[in-house]
Amino acid sequence: MSQSADDLLFARATAAMPGGNTRSTVFVPPHPPYAVTGRGCVVTDANGHEVYDCNNNYTSLLHGHAHPEIVRAAREAVGQGSAFGLPTESEIDLAELLRERTGIPRWRFCNSGTEAVMMAVRAARAATGRGRVIRFHGSYHGTYDGVVGADAAGVPQAVAEQSILLPQDDPVAFEHAMATHGHETAAVLLDLMPNRAGLRPVSRAMAELVRKRTAEHGALLIIDEVITFRLGNSGLRERYDVEPDLTTVGKVIGGGFPVGAVGGTAEVMDSFNPLGGATVSWGGTFSANPVSMRAGLTALRLFDAGAVKRLNALGDQLRDELATAGLAVNGTGSLVRLLVDDYPRAWWDLYRAGVLVGTNGLIALSTAMTDDDVIEIGRVVRSVAPAR
Ligand code: PMP
Repeated sequence: MSQSADDLLFARATAAMPGGNTRSTVFVPPHPPYAVTGRGCVVTDANGHEVYDCNNNYTSLLHGHAHPEIVRAAREAVGQGSAFGLPTESEIDLAELLRERTGIPRWRFCNSGTEAVMMAVRAARAATGRGRVIRFHGSYHGTYDGVVGADAAGVPQAVAEQSILLPQDDPVAFEHAMATHGHETAAVLLDLMPNRAGLRPVSRAMAELVRKRTAEHGALLIIDEVITFRLGNSGLRERYDVEPDLTTVGKVIGGGFPVGAVGGTAEVMDSFNPLGGATVSWGGTFSANPVSMRAGLTALRLFDAGAVKRLNALGDQLRDELATAGLAVNGTGSLVRLLVDDYPRAWWDLYRAGVLVGTNGLIALSTAMTDDDVIEIGRVVRSVAPAR
């Protein structure tokens, strides 16, 4: 049997990377296909197979691939020097835009959502002088030691013990944890619609309870909007009556380039202030690099209130259609989660039929999709995924 292009690539990959892999979240057995080009909402792989991209690099691409204005902005930035040992105006522009959109007054950049969470937890610990972090089961906050489970290989027991893990949306468990540990808690880390817990929005009552109790106990509330920021002009939080102390974002604010950011109140963010009384020193050789900043600015400017609304409406339409066909679906707006039992098989069936989704059934739409594209995506998903 002759080997396909991706088999050959994987053979090379296994000789240079463990299991041929450098990013666990994109691995599908026996091995993933390899992307070659992306244009708008279509990705072409090494075998020449074309798929609708409903993965969008795990929700980070708002406008699909190679949007001409984002390409132009990134190219211009690269042409003027891609990274400096000095700050640039581009980071001020993006911080101002984020401030304008969210009302959150202070921002600081890094290169990934993982780092954003790491910075936010550090700032919370510095600001409160406490160590514990309360998290919720099934909420993924990246790969930082302090926010992964005690069962994760390579995480010291002493670090894992600083985390208290609670069930999602369970006010009784939360009240109990705060009554016992509230006084020693630096922060509660909350994702308003955790992907790995099935993409079900947290109830307003629960979010309000978390805000109330954290404030009473002098703990900070960190809302992780790394995935959910795309759901509103200022993230999913705008649908809740809750003001966090710190917010973490990433993905879409980099326009397809590596990025993360922490936003927060002037008081808490002053933990990073290098002028006097600084308690947290934070660098990052490529933090706030002008390529990510300029691409992100362009992507967010293109994602105005009208674009946010249209994209969410497309997602609502797809979800309704799939639910009507008897499929199990969750999510809100442009983020749709397909609940199927046998993911590798369903993933491959969808991929072969022309739709690329996340390896856990996560679908993220892009503005590159027309109404007809989304109708076609719905048709393919219905033809492949089993109704429940
Ligand atoms: N927080 C959340 C809610 C996420 O979904 C992710 C990644 N999917 C992260 C943090 C980590 O972001 P990154 O992969 O950019 O490190």
